[in-house]
Amino acid sequence: MISIEEALKIIETHLPTLPHETVELSEAAGRILAETIAAPEPAPRYDNSAMDGYALRYEDVAGCAKEQPISLRLVGESRAGVPFAGRVGVGEAVRISTGAMVPSGADTVVRLEDAEEKDGVVRILACHRQGQDIRFRGEEFAAGDPLLAKGTFLGPAQLALCAAVGIERLTVYPRPRIALLVTGTELAPAAGTPVAAHQIRDSNTIMLAAAVREAGGRLVLARHIDDDPEATAAAIGAAAEQADILLCSGGVSVGRHDHVKEAALVNGFRQGFWRIRQKPGKPLFFAYQDHRLLFGLPGNPVSAFICFFHYVRPTVTALAGRAFGHPVVKAVAGTEISCRGRRPTLLRVSLDKGEGAWRAFPVTRQGSHMLTSLTTAQGYALVQPGTGIAAGEQMKVVVFNQTLCCEG
Ligand code: AMP
Ligand code: MG
Repeated sequence: MISIEEALKIIETHLPTLPHETVELSEAAGRILAETIAAPEPAPRYDNSAMDGYALRYEDVAGCAKEQPISLRLVGESRAGVPFAGRVGVGEAVRISTGAMVPSGADTVVRLEDAEEKDGVVRILACHRQGQDIRFRGEEFAAGDPLLAKGTFLGPAQLALCAAVGIERLTVYPRPRIALLVTGTELAPAAGTPVAAHQIRDSNTIMLAAAVREAGGRLVLARHIDDDPEATAAAIGAAAEQADILLCSGGVSVGRHDHVKEAALVNGFRQGFWRIRQKPGKPLFFAYQDHRLLFGLPGNPVSAFICFFHYVRPTVTALAGRAFGHPVVKAVAGTEISCRGRRPTLLRVSLDKGEGAWRAFPVTRQGSHMLTSLTTAQGYALVQPGTGIAAGEQMKVVVFNQTLCCEG
C-alpha cells in the first residue's frame, strides 16, 4: 500500500498532454485559454465622444464663458452608428452622441450642459481644454499589446474583450473525454425498473456523471457491466477508443468477482498503483496507457465519491488547463476531531460560518456505504491516525463545491 501523497504524485507524473482545441467564442465560456492573445487592433478603434454634446474646434471657442458665449454654426450630426460625412470647419459645430465618431476637423467635445442650441446656432458656454470628452483611438491599448495570458480562465469579461476586438475563435485546453463504466451484477438502474430484494440501486452512475461535468470533463459514455471478466475487458477496450479517462466503479477489491484490474491489464494498461493507505477508498486502482488514464474506483458510493474528489477531480482540472490540486478552505475545528482507525482518514465534515471563520464539524455518520455522510458534509479533512485536531485548532478542508472557497 502506498500513501495518499505518493498516489497523487504517481498520477501527476502520468498526466498526458491532450491536444488543444480551437472553439468559437460562444463555446469558450468556462474554458482555459491555451494561447496568448495580443490585441489585433487598438481600442478604441476610432476617436469617439465620451458625452452627448457638440464636436468642434477648440481654437474657435477657447476663452468662452457663460457671460461670454461663443456662437457656432450647427452643420450636422454624428450619431452612434451614423457618422457625420463632412468636415467641421472654422466656426462650425456638429451635434454628437456618446460613442459616435468624432468628425474630421473637430478636436474637442463640449457636453450638452455647456451649450445652448437654437435655430441652427450653438452657443458654447464653457470649454476647458482641447481634446476634452474624446476617447482617443488606442488610448486603452494599441494593436499588438498583450490582452490575455495563456492559462487565463475565460469568463464573461474575457469573452467580451475578445468580441470587442474581433476575435472569433480561441485555442483552449480540452475538456477531457471521460467514459464511465459501472460494474456490479447486483445493480439495478436507479430509475425506471423495479428493484428486486437482492439488488442495489445504482447511485454511482448519476453521481459520477454529475461530478465529471462539474469538474470540467466531458462524459462520452456511461454503461453498466456485469461482474464478468470478458465483458469487463471488452467494455474497457471499447471505452479506451473514445476516452482520455476511463472511470470504472466497483470490482477493484480482492473478491472473486472483481475483474477491473485484470481487464485493464489485458487491454495494455499498466498499473500505476493499487490500494492506498487511506479510509475510505483503500482499493483505488490507477493505470495508464499512452495518452489515457484509468481509475478503478471502489464501488461503495462514499469511497467512490471521495476517491473522485481527491484523485480524479485534480486530474480532470489539470487536463483542462488548471492546477492539479484541491479546492481548500481554512477552517477551525468546531469540536475535537480524532481519527480512531489505523489509516489516514478523509473525514467528512460539515462547515458552518461562525464569526468570520469557517468552523468544521465531523458528520456523525461516516460509514463508506452511507450517502448521508456526503449530503450532510461540505468537504473532508485529512486526519492522521493517532492524532487529533483540538477544538479551535486551524485545519484545512477540501470542499466539494469550489465556490465555497470564494465565499467571504
Ligand atoms: P465493490 O467495490 O464492487 O465490491 O462494491 C462495494 C459495495 O458498493 C457493494 O456493496 C456494492 O453493492 C456497492 N456498489 C457497487 N457499485 C455501486 C453502485 N453503482 N451504486 C451503488 N452501490 C454500489
Ligand atoms: Mg462489485
